[in-house]
Amino acid sequence: MENSAEAAIKGWSLPVSELRSPRAARIHSAVLAAILDHRLQPGARLPEDELASIYGVSRTIVRSALQALAHDRVVTIEPNRGAQVAEPSAAEARQVFEARSVIEPRVAALAAERATKADTERLLRHIAEEEQALAGDNKGRAIALSGAFHLTIAEIAAQPIFAGFVRELVSRSSLIIALYWRRQDAMCERHAHSALAEAIGAGDTQRAADLMLSHIVDLLSGLDLRQRPREEPRLSMLLQGTAAE
Ligand SMILES: [Zn+2]
Repeated sequence: MENSAEAAIKGWSLPVSELRSPRAARIHSAVLAAILDHRLQPGARLPEDELASIYGVSRTIVRSALQALAHDRVVTIEPNRGAQVAEPSAAEARQVFEARSVIEPRVAALAAERATKADTERLLRHIAEEEQALAGDNKGRAIALSGAFHLTIAEIAAQPIFAGFVRELVSRSSLIIALYWRRQDAMCERHAHSALAEAIGAGDTQRAADLMLSHIVDLLSGLDLRQRPREEPRLSMLLQGTAAE
């Protein structure tokens, strides 16, 4: 049984689809979900041998999952330290959102130019799923779905180079939001996504761009970028119930 954050993650992370081994993809999703759910803290170490024994797979499979997570920028791998959950600095967090504020308004405008009725319906279905996750108080799933909404807009815009940038930035933002979110309200406020879907559906390029810019500025303002203390519980406890089978 995978948890619902893992289900939400599937399909939006490029390396997952590139992972040839289903078991590696499974570990990738489980660890990413644990990071987004905040069970794994920034800096938490991810030893290959421990993960291999938790999931009952070879270290080679664990290594390919960790490499995909490193590609997502949510894990760092250093020669003598091994893998650990990335610790995005406050400066990096600001840079990620600065980049999003430049790229995503243009992507939203392109999506508004091209969106079909089916595309708009897809966005609306997404919003309904986000609402469900928030109502169920599933933070990891809500973060994953919020990210997926932005990736869907990039897909509708149908420009693969932009979509690649958005994918990396959303992946990095998901970790940043999981770590630094301070407001009590929704990660990506419902009304912001609804208004975006409406502007895109109406083909209103300028409004879609404006709404996206203010949405991203608003997301950045929801982060608390001060230093925080770190806890280091045991890896096997954190990943309990996510092992294969
Ligand atoms: Zn959003």
